[in-house]
Amino acid sequence: IALQNLLGSSGPPDIFPNLSLPTVLQHDKEDIKQGIEGCIGNTPLLRIRSLSEYLGCEVLAKAEFLNPGGSPKDRVALSIILKQKKGKEKKKKKKKKKKKKKKTTDARQAEEEGRIRPFSGDKVFEGTVGSTGVSLAHICRARGYLAHICMPSDQSLEKSNLLLKLGAVVERVTPASIVDQKQFVNLAKSRANDLTHDPTTTAHGFFADQFENEANWKAHFETTGPEIYRQCGKHLDAFVAGAGTGGTISGVVKYLKQYLPNLTAVLADPQGSGLLNKVKYGVMFNEVTEREGTRRRAQVDSIVEGIGINRVTANFEAGRTLIDDAVRVSDEEACLMARYLVEQDGLFVGSSSAVNCVAVVKLVKERGWENSSKKIVTILCDSGSRHLSKFWAKIGDVGGNWDTTIEEILEAGTK
Ligand code: PMP
Repeated sequence: IALQNLLGSSGPPDIFPNLSLPTVLQHDKEDIKQGIEGCIGNTPLLRIRSLSEYLGCEVLAKAEFLNPGGSPKDRVALSIILKQKKGKEKKKKKKKKKKKKKKTTDARQAEEEGRIRPFSGDKVFEGTVGSTGVSLAHICRARGYLAHICMPSDQSLEKSNLLLKLGAVVERVTPASIVDQKQFVNLAKSRANDLTHDPTTTAHGFFADQFENEANWKAHFETTGPEIYRQCGKHLDAFVAGAGTGGTISGVVKYLKQYLPNLTAVLADPQGSGLLNKVKYGVMFNEVTEREGTRRRAQVDSIVEGIGINRVTANFEAGRTLIDDAVRVSDEEACLMARYLVEQDGLFVGSSSAVNCVAVVKLVKERGWENSSKKIVTILCDSGSRHLSKFWAKIGDVGGNWDTTIEEILEAGTK
């Protein structure tokens, strides 16, 4: 009814696209997904109307926040768990062959090689700022595993609360350098190892390892990349994304550049992250954190969650040489962009999505692409509802105005 009212309303025809109910709500074909896993991926590619019109380019966004777990990490979590099962099956087959030869059985070894077994108490451990944890918690439940998530304590509470509701074990730990054994990723790894070697239980621990496990970028190479290519009609000029593990940007760019070698691939990098310098100059260096000394060097000094890092992970390295450029985005710019997207488009996004959109605007301005009709794709990673207590708390209520401007956003970057 709300949609009918909207379509029937008297919006100026040149602003609102010509939608009709039958094209929006098609119920004529049976379309049933296989559980929560079946709902992952195939997310819409939407045109961000405000930015497209302001820039005179096609600004398109992959609505990854519409995955069931609320982010592109659903693709990664599913891939890691499925690949793990495949690995296990392969090993079982090998074992069978061996058995035939030797005619002996070592049940304990077969179990260990299996690494995770559904409904056995086996646990998947991960170090994550939240999104991967949420995706793993959903998928682990659906496939009979338990999830144990280690996350830095400065991440928004919404994510850890959600993890608890999904039945995951959550450990919030003080943010620390990767060289520290108590750092969230190292802690998850050692917890997995401890469980596997605990003599009081037969349960196994499996460390998902999203930063180094190359199933991550491969999930985007196999799904996100092809979807974008198809949805764009096999033509796009630029792809812009931030990097947390680097899986998204590496996987998508690796796929797209096979068919579109002239594509401009751009990293959107929040303040405090060292990746921009790595892309532009080949060195890992961050002005702010370097100035403030080693204690801060390993952490990214930004309100933005999910992207920005001060080390090169296997997943970032997988696509690094294919990334052509990088754009720095400040917290202030990201906050204003998030506000602008609500005011203009009714899009309620999280901090990394806002960073991506600022980077698109800056890229177009820097390269003089205004009114060129270039097709640029970026990612809307998660919803603002995951960021109410931190990022959106800083922005505050939007109120009834439409007064945030792109000029104001860009000025914030020069302050
Ligand atoms: N946005 C959000 C909200 C995330 O949680 C992440 C993952 N940390 C990313 C973007 C970046 O994705 P990737 O790990 O593939 O670089």
